[in-house]
This record gives sequence, structure tokens and C-alpha cells, in this order.
Amino acid sequence: MTSGKEKYNSIRIEKSGEKTEAATEKNCFAGGSAGTAEKCNLENCMLCCSLDRPETKKTRLLLHSCCGPCSTSVIERLACTYQITVFFYNPNIHDTEEYEKRKKTQIQFLNQLNSSNLYEDKIDFIEGEYDPESFFEVSRGLEEEREGGARCEKCFFLRLERTAVKAKTHGFDTFATTLTVSPYKNYTLIAEIGRRLAFQYGLSYLDIDFKKKDGYRRSIELSKQYGLYRQHYCGCLFSMPKTEGC
Ligand code: SF4
Repeated sequence: MTSGKEKYNSIRIEKSGEKTEAATEKNCFAGGSAGTAEKCNLENCMLCCSLDRPETKKTRLLLHSCCGPCSTSVIERLACTYQITVFFYNPNIHDTEEYEKRKKTQIQFLNQLNSSNLYEDKIDFIEGEYDPESFFEVSRGLEEEREGGARCEKCFFLRLERTAVKAKTHGFDTFATTLTVSPYKNYTLIAEIGRRLAFQYGLSYLDIDFKKKDGYRRSIELSKQYGLYRQHYCGCLFSMPKTEGC
């Protein structure tokens, strides 16, 4: 369950209610031209959408994010259709310094994105509680599991359940996770957990394998473009690269 320690970071920027500067200059974030979706390699070109879209209320989406780099291409894909709030809940990350670095990178990306005015709606951010003891509790006895094994299943469940609870208590209709961007993560398992939790909490789970349609490659490209720190291990103590000597 959630605790009172979770907090909002106030990076929301006021909506202007006007077409963006980027849109008038036709600088398409996806590499195409505004209003000409066929030039984009994306399912939904958000800039084109923001130009052409009729005034409809978007579904509020609570998007669990494992890190800034993975969130890039997911947000790019969804920002046209959903009003996104990023939920950074990752107690698996070891250690505190690394956690802070990843969190800072996530916020850096959202700040850059929000101040670019590429999207009509700004992306909000909620930081979940950093409670590594929750992760160590669920992974007890599974420390030696290979990456992608039983420990990871527990880790996915922990993070997604907290996301579902947060979505429920904060009035979101739908939740999703950036975890499926990674080619190292088991999409089928993540989708199964997401759907199960959606049923349990009376929500809908946005089931998309974000690595498809070049999502992973695009996340690397965008991370470079935004100068984001990209980590070299999944996150937990047990996934850290083994070093030589002491
Ligand atoms: S390897 Fe990654 S997904 Fe698996 S338990 Fe560790 S942090 Fe979680």
C-alpha cells in the first residue's frame, strides 16, 4: 500500500491553450513535419495530433516509469492520446545515489519536454516512496536468480501494484508501464501482471509492448538527443555488474 511519504514534484507548467511555437515552426519531435503524419515513423505523431485533434477530453494515464531513458519513446507515443502523469516508483534501484541519479534524469527529461511546448498537455510527475526494504522483502530467497527469472517477476509485481494503487486513489482511469520498452524484459509476463492488477483494482491497463515499432531504438535516440544519463545495469543490487577483485 502507499504511504504518506510519496510526494508530488511540482514540475507542471501552465497550459497556454494555444498552438505551440514548435508547432508553428513545424519542428516535428518525431522527425516529420507538423500536420503530415505520413512523414513520421510513429503510430501517433503527437505534434500532428495536437494540430489536428478535435477538442476532446483525454484519458488520464498513470505511467509507471523505470527510468528517464525508457520513458522517452513511450511518452512520445502516448502524449497525443493520453494526459500523462509519470509515476517514478522504483525501490529496486540500488543504491540511494543511483536512485537519485535516475530520478533526477527522469525529472530532467520531463522538464525539458514541458518547457519545449511540444505537447498541448504538460506531463506531470509523482515520485513514489523510495522503500528498498519492500524490494528486499519480495526478493528474499531469490537473490541468485538470473535476470529475467522469478525475482524479476516479484519486482515487476511490486512496482505495478503500487502503480495500480496510486492510480486508484488518485482518480486515474488507466495505468501502464515503460518496462516493456526494454528488450531484456518479459513483455508477456508484465502484461499478465498489469491485466491481473487492473481487474483487481477496477482499472484498465494499457497493454502495449513499447519495444515494438522501434520503441527501444527510439528511446536510445531520444536519450542522446536530450543528454540523458543511461544506466548500465537493470537496477537492483543483484543485477549489478560483477567487478574484478574487491
Ligand atoms: S534484475 Fe531488474 S527487474 Fe529483475 S529484480 Fe533486479 S531490478 Fe528488478
